[in-house]
Amino acid sequence: MNSEALNDPTRVTAPPAGGGRGTWWAWCIWLPGCVAFAALVAWAVSELSRSFSPLGVLPLAVGLVLGASLVALMRLFQMGHRPTAWLAVGLSVAVVVVGQHWLGYRAAVVEADRRSEEFQKTQAKFGELVRGSLPPRPASLVDYLRGEAQRGRPLSTVFGQYSAKGALAWITWTVDALLVLAPAVVMMGFALRRPFCRKCGSWYATRRSGSLDAQAARRLAAALELPLEDSAGAARYRLICCNQGCAPSGFSLSWEGNSSGACKRAPYPLGSEIVWLDDQQRTRIVAILDESRNSLTPDS
Ligand SMILES: [Zn+2]
Repeated sequence: MNSEALNDPTRVTAPPAGGGRGTWWAWCIWLPGCVAFAALVAWAVSELSRSFSPLGVLPLAVGLVLGASLVALMRLFQMGHRPTAWLAVGLSVAVVVVGQHWLGYRAAVVEADRRSEEFQKTQAKFGELVRGSLPPRPASLVDYLRGEAQRGRPLSTVFGQYSAKGALAWITWTVDALLVLAPAVVMMGFALRRPFCRKCGSWYATRRSGSLDAQAARRLAAALELPLEDSAGAARYRLICCNQGCAPSGFSLSWEGNSSGACKRAPYPLGSEIVWLDDQQRTRIVAILDESRNSLTPDS
């Protein structure tokens, strides 16, 4: 056995269990906060879409901004309850999508009331001389959308202006909603793959990462009992921990094969890209990293 192998190489540390628990503040403060933020986004989008609405671009950008913001809010406030995070994505997307149309509907109602008032004033002044009728005031959100679909939704495409009428207008609204939903779901999905520490209630984050020369990579691979190809060259490492450094810590090592030059992932136990270390194992790995410091180029 290699002299640097850990005391008991067959000992496998289990990854941190599950996510955070549902708490009253996550339900009563964090979730409503996300929904309020989504309402703000809906307002900004409805203002922006009056001057800038190239087909598909705006909803996609909104989905990306919304997804990134929800992930940031989750990390910032260490909200670790996964079902609440998914609920926040669902509600926020619904608020952004429905909110935009609702703001359009409210604006149409205000405009219809203003016109009606003007019409009545003019009629009172000039009596029978004033004829004609006003377009009907939308009775509800659905009624407003039906009217908009009938009139045709103006679309800016690369081929110029186009008006989507009837069913086509409803289809474009549905596609827009999906374009908001998809990036938000993908971003949250990736964010939730990160482990959460129940002990100290924090998301795991990269505490240490950088490059290693082949010699240091070999020492680490030996200590972790990882198979390493002879052609393996320079490597990169990453150590992830929770805020308080509770065990277990995650460690990943990847290196470039000298022959192909392609970056290869180490074949870790448990079929994962990350090896989980207990306190003793982590201390040993950190010691090796410290000893190899002269050959390291830390990223953080
Ligand atoms: Zn912890």
